[in-house]
Amino acid sequence: MKILIAEDDTISRRMLEKVFNGQGYEIFSAADGAAAWRILEEPDHPHLLVLDWMMPGLTGVEIVQRVRERPDGHTYYIIILTSLDTPADTSFALDGGADDFVSKPYHADSLRSRANVGKRIVSLYEKLSEKMRLLEEAHATISHLAATDELTGLYNRRFFNEHFTQSLSAARRYSFPLSLIMADIDKFKTVNDTYGHAAGDKVLKAFADILRTVGRTEDICARWGGEEFIILLGHTSCAGAIIVAERVRSVMEAECQRITSIAVTVSLGVAELNGDEDAEALLKRADSALYRAKDEGRNRVVVG
Ligand SMILES: [Mg+2]
Repeated sequence: MKILIAEDDTISRRMLEKVFNGQGYEIFSAADGAAAWRILEEPDHPHLLVLDWMMPGLTGVEIVQRVRERPDGHTYYIIILTSLDTPADTSFALDGGADDFVSKPYHADSLRSRANVGKRIVSLYEKLSEKMRLLEEAHATISHLAATDELTGLYNRRFFNEHFTQSLSAARRYSFPLSLIMADIDKFKTVNDTYGHAAGDKVLKAFADILRTVGRTEDICARWGGEEFIILLGHTSCAGAIIVAERVRSVMEAECQRITSIAVTVSLGVAELNGDEDAEALLKRADSALYRAKDEGRNRVVVG
């Protein structure tokens, strides 16, 4: 474990180094408070500190106060070393944030034992922060999984619905336009029946890639279920949504065969939020536009 020794008196500093030499410590030595602080500003600096109180530049107690103000200030173990040893001095150092207080002259074994207590505490904090990091990672993974469709990597219906509700109320409150595109892959059942489900999955993934490429970064593209997809376009009027839908349609028509070896098209329904209409009504209008696109011969964009 790394240990910082800060002591301005050269002989005392050598003695301190001797106390911790060969005890499994990596020793960082500082000849005054400013040098100690520089070490504490380096990455991967010691968290176990033995500081003389009286030093030029910064005193040991001032260093304690500064360290404790850091966001991870609680993860340090700090022993203050001093010839000031009245009860008032002890209280001042401990109340100021030091973990332990050792008067000079000290006994080497006793100082080592006190430093070992600090070593246990610091390694406990290290283990704790590693556990915290792993937990945060796991939480990020879980959040990602909860929002994502496994096959296509697009958002899932659950995430979409949460986002949809928020965007809808924001659009109403600040009166900006908002549009929806519902897309359904044409004759998808025939693809599955003719080429098998693996080929069907390939088509779904290819369409998801097209949505990611054609969709603008601020659009929310999700798999609505089966071969049905949905795109939420904030700050976008019907005219803007038609342009996006038409691009999706034409890229699918042009690229699907090249990507999957199967020629597949897509039908799309577009609707822009109207006045006080709720989420369900808007969805219904986009959905009926989609059905009309199917009825009118597929591979087309229809406005609801
Ligand atoms: Mg001193």
